[in-house]
Amino acid sequence: MNHEHVRDHIYVDGAWIPSHGSRTIDVVDPTTEQPIGRVPDGTPKDVDAAVRAARRAFPDWSRTPAETRARYLREVADGLERRAPELAALIAREVGTPIAFARMAQVGLAVLTFRTAAEVGGSYSYERREANSLIVREGVGVVGAITPWNYPLHQAAAKVAYALAAGSTVVLKPSEVAPLSAWVLAEAIDEAGVPAGVFNLVSGTGPVVGEAIAGHRDVDLVSFTGSTAVGRRISKVAADTVKRVTLELGGKSPTVLLADADPAAVVPRAVAGAFLNNGQTCCALTRLLVPRALKHRVERMAKAGAEATVIGDPSQPTTQLGPLVSHTQRERVRGHVEHAVEQGATLLCGGTQPPEGLSHGYFVRPTVLTDVTPAMDVHHDEVFGPVLVIEAYDDEDHAVRLANDTDYGLAAAVWSADPARALAVARRIRAGQVEVNGAPFNPRAPFGGYGQSGNGREHGVFGLEEFLETKSIQL
Ligand code: NAD
Repeated sequence: MNHEHVRDHIYVDGAWIPSHGSRTIDVVDPTTEQPIGRVPDGTPKDVDAAVRAARRAFPDWSRTPAETRARYLREVADGLERRAPELAALIAREVGTPIAFARMAQVGLAVLTFRTAAEVGGSYSYERREANSLIVREGVGVVGAITPWNYPLHQAAAKVAYALAAGSTVVLKPSEVAPLSAWVLAEAIDEAGVPAGVFNLVSGTGPVVGEAIAGHRDVDLVSFTGSTAVGRRISKVAADTVKRVTLELGGKSPTVLLADADPAAVVPRAVAGAFLNNGQTCCALTRLLVPRALKHRVERMAKAGAEATVIGDPSQPTTQLGPLVSHTQRERVRGHVEHAVEQGATLLCGGTQPPEGLSHGYFVRPTVLTDVTPAMDVHHDEVFGPVLVIEAYDDEDHAVRLANDTDYGLAAAVWSADPARALAVARRIRAGQVEVNGAPFNPRAPFGGYGQSGNGREHGVFGLEEFLETKSIQL
């Protein structure tokens, strides 16, 4: 068995120490289906040690000037940037993200997040007067950060960078499915000279290490990104200690193509967007809502776009679609597609057969389903694979109703030849971020969900404030 990436230690109180447990978790390359490394399968005692260290470090760190904390974060960003090629290759292997996209999104966005958090946290006004009160914002305390596998470094960065910027200390539990980049992050933090205990890393499974963090008396806030089912469980486990819980969960986000929009501009983007990171993106726009009169045209274009997608080895720069992260994930996605067809959806292309020429790896063909309606589960359920669904609407009100007919509310997109019309529709959509006519991502804009896509916001000033407490001192 080839284990290139063996991580024997966890990072607690500024030191690399062995876990209290003796078991390990294998990390599997989804392209070859072979193990490439292993990490400690941590225990509640590891969590205790990490939380104790974070608690001890908190008073000094929260009193460290914000500009000094920002300086550390810039050093961490520099450290990650120096190792960007290695990190991109690592995440391409453990997640299956195509390498070109991994460089930009998996690593580039993580580095940008540390830099942005440094700017936001370094320039924030932590105190203000209101009548006879001094209102002080200060670090919330010890933050437990629990992260998923799909953007492992970026999701960790959104929590760690902003919590540290705010003067809080952190215990990070990365996903056991794709944990390796968390060790590089810990090394970058260590090399930046961040004081001992301010950041701690404990690996392990959700039910053991994750729940030990969520239920710990001395953790003040749990910041979770992952599935809605686990978010619910974490909220329950956290309730006994009345800690704050912020949740970034799943989605089933719509693109609304209004009748005056140009399908030639929208459809190729909608297809590529739905397949980003092999369709494993929480805010992926996976439902394409189109006027009934344009349906056939859109279907032809979507099929052509999906069939032109280059699928294969994620380490190749021309690859656009790699494998899903695991066998379980591939079976789940195939199940969704099969079930949608049973319920009456039409399979335009793709489906459950393995792609030609790829006998190994958890690949799923780029898939487009049409004739999808709210009566089908695939309208509602997050598939988390390269599956775009097309739904036809009768008029603008119907489009908005379909867009909002979801328990989720993470993201949406609206396209129109008339920006004012697109904005008016964007205002009616119940989602945390809505993009108009393909507007670019903004690293300072708050990111988070309505409904069962979660609560709380990450990034920018809102993301910083998640990790702050509020005190009024009457004078
Ligand atoms: P997941 O919920 O299975 O796991 C996420 C993390 O929670 C992992 O670290 C896991 O070990 C841990 N966990 C599992 N059970 C736990 C428990 N009982 N107690 C505490 N922790 C537990 O999610 P995943 O499969 O890793 O990621 C995919 C999901 O994440 C998708 O639903 C996706 O939409 C969502 N996601 C959301 C966002 C967002 O910002 N809204 C971003 C990325 C991913």
